[in-house]
Amino acid sequence: MRSTALFEVMAIVVATMACVADDSSALGQASAYARAGPDRSAVGERASCDVSSVLAIEHVTLLPMTRGSLPIADATVIVRGQRVSWIGPSKRASVPACATTIDARRRWLIPGLVDAHVHVESPRMMRLILQDPSIPEEAINDADPYLPYIARGILQIGNMSAMSETIGQRRAIETGRVLGPHTMLAAMVDGDPSLWPVGITRVAATPEDGRQVVRDEIAEGYDMVKVYSNLTLDTFTAIVDEARSHGVKVVGHIPGRGTPIGPYFQAGYTMVAHAEELAVRVVGEEDAEVAHMVAAASLHGTGLMTTLTVDQRILEQTLDPSTLHTRPEIQYVHPVVRRFWYERNPYIGDGSAERVAELRGIIALNDKLVRAFVAAGLPVLAGTDSLVPGVVAGFALHDELAALVAAGLTPYQALEAATRAPCEWMGVAEDRGTVEVGKRADLLLLDADPLVDITNTQRIAGVVTNGRWLPRRELDAKLDELAKRYAAPSTRPLAAP
Ligand SMILES: [Zn+2]
Repeated sequence: MRSTALFEVMAIVVATMACVADDSSALGQASAYARAGPDRSAVGERASCDVSSVLAIEHVTLLPMTRGSLPIADATVIVRGQRVSWIGPSKRASVPACATTIDARRRWLIPGLVDAHVHVESPRMMRLILQDPSIPEEAINDADPYLPYIARGILQIGNMSAMSETIGQRRAIETGRVLGPHTMLAAMVDGDPSLWPVGITRVAATPEDGRQVVRDEIAEGYDMVKVYSNLTLDTFTAIVDEARSHGVKVVGHIPGRGTPIGPYFQAGYTMVAHAEELAVRVVGEEDAEVAHMVAAASLHGTGLMTTLTVDQRILEQTLDPSTLHTRPEIQYVHPVVRRFWYERNPYIGDGSAERVAELRGIIALNDKLVRAFVAAGLPVLAGTDSLVPGVVAGFALHDELAALVAAGLTPYQALEAATRAPCEWMGVAEDRGTVEVGKRADLLLLDADPLVDITNTQRIAGVVTNGRWLPRRELDAKLDELAKRYAAPSTRPLAAP
């Protein structure tokens, strides 16, 4: 299929024009297809293509994750460039001869998954956490922290402690220089004293400080403001008000432990960062208090990030710290991050019966809160808090999905919490979060039905990221290479077993 350079340039121009035309004309048609199931009148994809940019996933069971959508059997999804250009019954598909085709019989196609609550390591962050200025800038490159997300089908993340490095990393990912998920960046602000070192968080001791921090974060290019536990109510209120006046959302912790939560549920405080934030405040009759919390959240439609996995991992390492060494996915954790887990882990050391009972209580309440928020129709987003000891980037989101189903959600509801719902909250649902014509080709192909068993999201056949097909063997090879480098003696964590 080689041709002259000039012909290639012309072919790319023609294909780009065709892609634009297809996107605009076919959008409504495919939405109807997604809602109504196979449409006998659907028109096939035009037969021309640029050899490098057309991908056809054929005979797949498609789960578009549009609102209320049902699985569509024997569908074909055609991708041109970075976008889905046609969806329809396989028998109606007109797949260009030069397309890369994937026979997806007995496979399931869902949107790329979203982990709405993560933390991404950087050399500066680890110097601050480990209080070790000797960690060199080259210790962690821009690409490695993001690879496990892509390899496990997580194609969008919400970074809940974004630092200035992440602005450039986002750009590197979006321009294709680094393989990684789309990132939503929330920058932290805490009260004085702050719980995390300054640099990871900013500090606002007064309402005016809080307003200034918000203006700074917006000017620097962050997407949202992340509030933290030591803010006073006055400063919290000023931050939420300032952010709202700029059209920027606030997500985060609820300060003032031991005080009523009602005053914190303000218009503009759109998302509680953890179910645990609410669980730890339940002191009286559980059902009544949960109902009271849901009513307070409902006033302004405040949603909930689930982060069930992090509390389960904290319990696990409280009972048995060796799990921080033995969990198989820990080979994909950077050695410097493992130093944090082994040397400065705040969750091991107190394995008392009281502590274990407290954690078990939080875990049970988390489940109850998630069910209550779903029942109230409030936004519920799957998040993991990866980078917290035991919570591994990319892998933990699949555990979170399983935990959501164990908590009482249907597999479909769990998938909603990790696809469309977080993209709606992040304001990117026009671009991604569902499988529809015109939307970005961020897709996850599975070897088994996730609606039958949610753990089937772990049976990954391949990932399409920005239209690029990455089969499982290629993803596994990348993970293997990462693990080998992380295991090399020069990078081995000091406190490894
Ligand atoms: Zn977090």
